[in-house]
Amino acid sequence: MLKGKVAVVTGSTSGIGLAMAKGFAAQGANVVLNGLGDARQIEQVRAGIEQEFGVKALFDGADLTSGQAVRQLVAGAVEQLGSIDILVNNAGIQHTALIEDFPVEKWDAIIALNLSAVFHGTAAALPHMKRQQWGRIINIASAHGLVASANKSAYVAAKHGVIGLTKTTALETAGSGVTANAICPGWVRTPLVEQQITAIAQSKKISQEEAARELLAEKQPSLQFVTPEQLAGTAVYLASDAAAQVTGTSISVDGGWTAR
Ligand code: NAD
Repeated sequence: MLKGKVAVVTGSTSGIGLAMAKGFAAQGANVVLNGLGDARQIEQVRAGIEQEFGVKALFDGADLTSGQAVRQLVAGAVEQLGSIDILVNNAGIQHTALIEDFPVEKWDAIIALNLSAVFHGTAAALPHMKRQQWGRIINIASAHGLVASANKSAYVAAKHGVIGLTKTTALETAGSGVTANAICPGWVRTPLVEQQITAIAQSKKISQEEAARELLAEKQPSLQFVTPEQLAGTAVYLASDAAAQVTGTSISVDGGWTAR
């Protein structure tokens, strides 16, 4: 379905981003991976995608808290693979603390990566997408882009911002062949959430699995984690022709979190 298209997925060395990169590769797209982590493991993942799906897979280890680096990531994809057709703004980090205790450097890093990087990537990709009259901007927001939780001020502010930015992107590209949408996952059991489960387990002196059940029970009525593969399915749908008129929207994949 996406044969020959080029998909750049930020934060794709782990979790949701990696599943999305694989989802696009399975549809025939060449992919650019990005993220932090162990160089040998990343190379195994990159080479594995090329082998399994018969596509080109590149890796760019840019730290996307720098706007310049985000723009360079997009420029590099165009230079090396000839275009950018799909941009998934997925890289994200979390930190939890009360507002009055929130470390300023954590606030700045979360806003830089979870919000400003989405702006820089979109700004760099749109000229190419508009010129070729086809493009998909897919922003990974969160249930926290729609509703808040205590102790997550920077994350909630950034994710609400991503949803606003997605709507503006959709208006500025309407009718051009380019669409912009946000996906709002509930709890997904990736390293980002495992840290929060560990914090609950330690503070309540309960097991990791009991803590995982508590985390789900507080927010997610299905009491089941969303899987990265389910989110990859949503992203592939948004890249498909069936979604050509879906733009400016937020799709919740959250086990009912935001229904109550
Ligand atoms: P993860 O920690 O498994 O993956 C995050 C990815 O971002 C990794 O590839 C990491 O290397 C990369 N990254 C971190 N800092 C970076 C930087 N400075 N520059 C470039 N890359 C960087 O997390 P995840 O759960 O897969 O999260 C992916 C996205 O999904 C995030 O935007 C997150 O906010 C969002 N999300 C996650 C959940 C969840 O429950 N896990 C829920 C809703 C939304």
